[in-house]
Amino acid sequence: MQTPTWQQVLAQSFTNLSSLLEYLQIDAPILTGSIQASRQFTLRVPREFAALMHKGDLNDPLLRQVLPTHNELLTAAGFISDPVGDRQAELSPGLLHKYHGRVLLITTGACAVHCRYCFRRHYPYAGSTATASQWQGILDYLHANPSIEEVILSGGDPLMISDKKLGEWLQQLQQLPQLKRLRLHTRLPVVLPQRITRELTGLFQTCRLNTVMVIHANHPTELSPSVAEALHKVAAAGVNLLNQSVLLKGVNDQCDTLVALSERLFEIGVMPYYLHLLDRVAGAAHFDLKESAIQNLQQQLVAKLPGYLMPRMVREIADEPSKTPFQLKFRSP
Ligand SMILES: *Cc1c(COP(=O)(O)O)cnc(C)c1O
Ligand code: SF4
Repeated sequence: MQTPTWQQVLAQSFTNLSSLLEYLQIDAPILTGSIQASRQFTLRVPREFAALMHKGDLNDPLLRQVLPTHNELLTAAGFISDPVGDRQAELSPGLLHKYHGRVLLITTGACAVHCRYCFRRHYPYAGSTATASQWQGILDYLHANPSIEEVILSGGDPLMISDKKLGEWLQQLQQLPQLKRLRLHTRLPVVLPQRITRELTGLFQTCRLNTVMVIHANHPTELSPSVAEALHKVAAAGVNLLNQSVLLKGVNDQCDTLVALSERLFEIGVMPYYLHLLDRVAGAAHFDLKESAIQNLQQQLVAKLPGYLMPRMVREIADEPSKTPFQLKFRSP
């Protein structure tokens, strides 16, 4: 039997609430709130990710990240559709130049998993994806702006794009003499490790640019042996591995969980990078933590972790020149 392609594995994902709950042996009634929430932002969970969830547990931290609930329908003060000002920073469809020396490309709206807290859940992707003609516009912009040294492929998830297309883009990017670094922001190695194909690692291996892959895992349970194996291949292709997480109430807001996450990341060759405070996107208020709780958590974490395993806790504030660090309060002397 032939191993299925990643596209075939992806196509087997759960997109139906009752099938997912049945698989997880959760015998709860499906509430209309969940159905309405999944109409706003559809349910999507790869099988291998679902397999890491505890059976029968509606409060499983992995399930909580992907399960549509009535909470998403509630409005909350300050929670808006574009909390980080992306649409305002968009220079041309799919191109964001917010920070010095780095541009972020929204390569596709597609993702393998739909995270309920996603700050781009309301992003008008249809008109914001880099299609062929837009891609030329992006290259022209880079030509005209030699101070840009790093291109970040984001989305959606840039690894939803075929190896062939990625290969073509990398070819063109590598020809820009000013470019030093290539970065990919992707959750696919975590939720669909089959995505790490030999073609993909081959692309990294031959790329002249210093390459960084920033994965997205929020809980140590997500980092299964097959995820570790996939990431090992990425690292072997000369790619630097970092992780970003989002601090989520009911998912990873306990010190022990975050310590275990950092330790597991390091064990599999990934350095913790950012721990993002939740972007205030409409529909995600139930994942938010009080400022005082965040402060406590930060204090507990720095006291437990080696300095190099402490993720940078940051918030994205529109119009700031970088992500904004969440400051640890010094004890008064
Ligand atoms: C987060 C982000 C970056 C990358 O910022 P780093 O601090 O370098 O990780 C770049 N562009 C945009 C638009 C971003 O949101
Ligand atoms: S993978 Fe990233 S972009 Fe896609 S839904 Fe999750 S948080 Fe959003």
